[in-house]
Amino acid sequence: MALNLRQFAALVLAGAICLGSAGATGAQSLPETPATEVSVESPVADPVVTPEEDLTSEQSTADAPVADPTEELESEVLPEEPAVGFGTNPVDEELIPDGPVDDFVPDFELDPDDLPGIYDPYAGVKLRVGLAYPGNSNGALIHANLLNAEMSAVTGYRFGFYDDTLEFVLLASTQETALSMVKTTNIYRVGENYYDAKPSGDYELLGCYHRQLPFAFATWEEAEVVAGSTPNSFISWVDGVYYVRSGSYATYDEAKAAADAEPAANWSVVYTSVYGINVVKTGTCSILFQFDGGETKPLAVAPGFESGKGAVTWFKGFKYQGSFRYERVGGGNLVVVNILDIDTYVKGVVPYESNKLWPLETLKAQALCAKNYGLINRNKHNGYNFDLCNTTDCQVYYGLGSNKESFQPSTLSDQAVDEIKGQYVWYGDKLAHTYFYSSNGGGSEDSSKVWGSNQASYPYLIGVVDPYEETVADSIPNYRFSKTFTNAQLTEILRTKGYATNTSVVDFQVTEYSKSGNVLTMKFTYANGKSNTFASSSSSWLRNKLGCRSMHFTVTGAGEVLTTECAVNNGTGESISDFAGLYVLSGAGELVQLEHSVPHVITGTGEISSAGQSTTIPDGNYVIEGAGWGHNVGYSQWGGYAMAKQGFTAKEIIEFYFTGVEVGAKQSDNSENIGF
Ligand SMILES: [Zn+2]
Repeated sequence: MALNLRQFAALVLAGAICLGSAGATGAQSLPETPATEVSVESPVADPVVTPEEDLTSEQSTADAPVADPTEELESEVLPEEPAVGFGTNPVDEELIPDGPVDDFVPDFELDPDDLPGIYDPYAGVKLRVGLAYPGNSNGALIHANLLNAEMSAVTGYRFGFYDDTLEFVLLASTQETALSMVKTTNIYRVGENYYDAKPSGDYELLGCYHRQLPFAFATWEEAEVVAGSTPNSFISWVDGVYYVRSGSYATYDEAKAAADAEPAANWSVVYTSVYGINVVKTGTCSILFQFDGGETKPLAVAPGFESGKGAVTWFKGFKYQGSFRYERVGGGNLVVVNILDIDTYVKGVVPYESNKLWPLETLKAQALCAKNYGLINRNKHNGYNFDLCNTTDCQVYYGLGSNKESFQPSTLSDQAVDEIKGQYVWYGDKLAHTYFYSSNGGGSEDSSKVWGSNQASYPYLIGVVDPYEETVADSIPNYRFSKTFTNAQLTEILRTKGYATNTSVVDFQVTEYSKSGNVLTMKFTYANGKSNTFASSSSSWLRNKLGCRSMHFTVTGAGEVLTTECAVNNGTGESISDFAGLYVLSGAGELVQLEHSVPHVITGTGEISSAGQSTTIPDGNYVIEGAGWGHNVGYSQWGGYAMAKQGFTAKEIIEFYFTGVEVGAKQSDNSENIGF
């Protein structure tokens, strides 16, 4: 059934054909009124990581921003690349994710994996990942360009839609390698960009009114016979029925005049619904295919003329595997979704959520977390009919990345995903919620203490003392934090949320630490004798204001002594903090006995300083000192790095951070887990 649009175009014959009695007229949904409003929606240049030297000139035009057709064009926005080697996030209230969602029960009815002897209950799972939608940097699009990244056997595209089980239903195909999906309003083309507001300079119009022959066809082949003998025609698929249409006019009157000019053809004038999408050859207004599946059936485009296996596609400056879906949610602009299998998705996450050059076992631990997260959070973005978004809201996903080698998966990150194929993080028979963060400062925390979730539902999300991070602390950017506040500054912070409005802070202290050393409650006492106590689980805003990048910190208050400790080990490996009586080499090279408890040393900047600095905090001041970056629930990425450096496996790393889980594959749908 794969049909080449070029082939049918080649069949076009000159002259109108004689038509029989009118068939179904293809009554359309309500017309989408062409935009007539004055306000011009500024066409924003595609945020592109410009394809570089490896591309052919044709490839390098993929979604490249064109000259500004209006004067309102915003400056090009380059996508922010995640910091390599640092998987999370500036502290921000929004970045403290919501707690776990309802338990997810594995679907064991899915196809078994093809690995011998290993049952993979999720081998056949496809994920829908949002690439452009209201809410990410792309937004919903007026047009979406696709370009085959490899000029090989997998060039070209197939058109169709996905059925309820995410199976691709093929309607037609083309050998064109660069397509633009464009919403079916009046559209103005400038170069390879398409706008729904008339630009000031030169443009080509892609109108939304068409002439239509009075036939409805059940199959593409039937429609093609007629289209092949009708000049300038294209095939339109409307809710399962094919029509042959011609021309694209800006107004009904123009289309009517064109229809009336050929009375023998019995043309009618039509338009699409607000869900219509034209597929054109990029850089033209030549309609290859028109699709209108109504509200519930969006257009899908799969790379490859006949098979998409191994196909790679450019979209918005990044390369992706899998297929694409274009949906005008609510009749608006195009929401673009990448549809692909779970393992390929994870390969497009790990290098951007981790340092792709980290030890293999660390990358495998990250891949295990990413895979569980992806499966558990299916349907998270149901409002736009996809599963996961491509930002830190879910997991950062850039597929095969840009043309920069630093922004692509590595051999190691792909290997990590391959090596955990069929393996998951289980708690009993359920997939575990594998939350992760950059670093915890020395201890992870119970999910109930961080998010207020019911701990009984997530017994594996409990805090552990983490001795590993500290061993690589020097490598962790921004690991430690320290900040001093006065009573007046604390009062100001509290007043932003309506506390301490008629009084002021006179004391601030941590009133409870967890068993893994995290701050659970903080108390502020006021001049009027009253106080407020804040639990960590409900005051991430406060920690953010205090500059605490994690909940692992201490507060040293007025009158207390802040000591920069200095310790040495004695001959039996025990730490000595009192140095009096020890023998050391003096500056003159002589062996002398220390008389004082705290010796003087030469610092890294060459100054002589007391080795054990003691500072008494002045009245009204507080010093916060801590370490870590993130929410502290689950897996520490830097802890995983440190553990792998010490020889731990991914399984050991994950089972350390998630108490009571098992990492491994299922041998069958109901047998116990097996390790790896
Ligand atoms: Zn999301």
